[in-house]
Amino acid sequence: MALHDPSTPVSEFIAGKHGIFIDGEWRDGEGGETFDVHDPATGTTIAKVARGTAADIDRAVAAARRAFEERRWHGLPPEKRADVLWNLARIFEREARTLAEIDVADNGMPIAFAEWMVGSTIAQLKYYAGMITKVTGRNVSPALASDQLRMHAYTSVEPVGVAGIIIPWNGPIGTLIIKLAPALAAGCSLVVKPAELTPLSALYAADLMNEAGIPPGVVNIVPGFGHDAGQALVDHPDVDKVSFTGSTATGKKIVQSAAGNLKRVTLELGGKSPVVVFDDADPEIAIPGAAMGIFANTGQVCFAGSRLFVQKKSYDKVVAGISDFAKGLTIGKGMDPATQIGPLISAGQRDKVAGYLETGVSEGAEIVTGGAAHGNHGYFVQPTVFANVDASMRIVREEIFGPVLVATPVEDMDDIVRMANDTRYGLGAGIFTTSVNKAHLVAERLRAGNVWINGYGMMHPAMPFGGYGESGWGRENGTEGISAYQETKSVFVYLNENDRT
Ligand code: NDP
Repeated sequence: MALHDPSTPVSEFIAGKHGIFIDGEWRDGEGGETFDVHDPATGTTIAKVARGTAADIDRAVAAARRAFEERRWHGLPPEKRADVLWNLARIFEREARTLAEIDVADNGMPIAFAEWMVGSTIAQLKYYAGMITKVTGRNVSPALASDQLRMHAYTSVEPVGVAGIIIPWNGPIGTLIIKLAPALAAGCSLVVKPAELTPLSALYAADLMNEAGIPPGVVNIVPGFGHDAGQALVDHPDVDKVSFTGSTATGKKIVQSAAGNLKRVTLELGGKSPVVVFDDADPEIAIPGAAMGIFANTGQVCFAGSRLFVQKKSYDKVVAGISDFAKGLTIGKGMDPATQIGPLISAGQRDKVAGYLETGVSEGAEIVTGGAAHGNHGYFVQPTVFANVDASMRIVREEIFGPVLVATPVEDMDDIVRMANDTRYGLGAGIFTTSVNKAHLVAERLRAGNVWINGYGMMHPAMPFGGYGESGWGRENGTEGISAYQETKSVFVYLNENDRT
């Protein structure tokens, strides 16, 4: 084992056989093919994974449907289901380091970031375990009271059925559990399609689901390609709901495909989130806050704060401060505890980001820091800050999904709100100011699903997360998160006043 490699059990798991998880059991794909998984820090192949196809999705959906119709999960008493989700949370606590190391190997992210993400999945599982025993309907009879007709009227809340879960590569275990926990709390059965670039932590978690006591067929995991297994899941007529996290372009395709049987759809998509620094902001908070708002996870975060707006008096100081911060970040392999910035996920993503760096320069923007690849191995790119940008440039309008910040000086609050809202997205927004008054006034006017004041990027299971505009549909987390996997039924009972025997 070399320095900064994963631990031996994790290496053995990665090098082992990876199949398809259906009905609580492992099997090979129908087509018998595998695909390679790479370490983004070196570009080398680290694992071979069974390639699920449409036939495997068919089998997984059939297993999920059977489990649902036989009420293997949602037919259990709520207390029992809550126990199982708590079991899973406790097992995740035991396996936290392993799950984090798997995501580091697969995705390249720094180990501290991976551990934080696993911690957030444990919080999700506990939060939704607690919610299972709180699911109720409402008695609406009083609102229907009438002299002519006596009615008893109530609502009940039911699981939507079989949910297709499609997850991206930028936060593999985090984006799995943010969907799985509320879907299970609602009582659904699931078919999960992990990203082809990072399937390993979902596959490791499959055995943990069995150990926790989730009945066979309730969670099925089919690794494979988006255009093949993913598309088959979205097209499938026996899937009732799709929850997707990924690019806006793929999200739009999913909406079209889901129209076949009018599946319910939740979409967590892209962003070009603004971060605003007022002249009165505390630079000790604003500079590292804005810097890590974009550079965390190498900018591969849907709510990355990629557009910086600074009031004119402070502009030079804040941009210089963020650039110095960027230069001081340690770039390296995720398993090195000193690493703050890991590689991008793939050669394709590195080339895409490099393309934007070239476009920025050719559009006339100025590179303040960064602007090039880093090192000779893997897919590393320097954290980059562009100045001299204008609102028409592609680097200002498009989601780059890399460590690239574009900085613009601004005048006053109206200027800030107008420029910050000049985007088709609306996922996150950051505001740095010492004025409580300004903070609230701007927060109210920004068109974004999540606003952070004097910090950036906090997520919590109790706080709904999602976007305006082309950043998506619906919300995850909170009570909204479980509602996304439920149907509401209204029941009208006609009471017969004459029945007095
Ligand atoms: P996608 O949005 O295409 O992929 C996300 C997930 O969707 C993956 O599991 C993918 O499978 C799956 N998928 C792809 N096509 C389909 C389909 N037709 N039907 C069902 N599922 C599908 O992102 P990419 O990985 O291709 O990355 C492209 C760009 O998207 C990135 O450069 C980045 O800019 C952005 N992105 C944004 C994310 C966000 O959270 N906002 C997350 C990830 C990417 P597979 O991986 O097997 O192809």
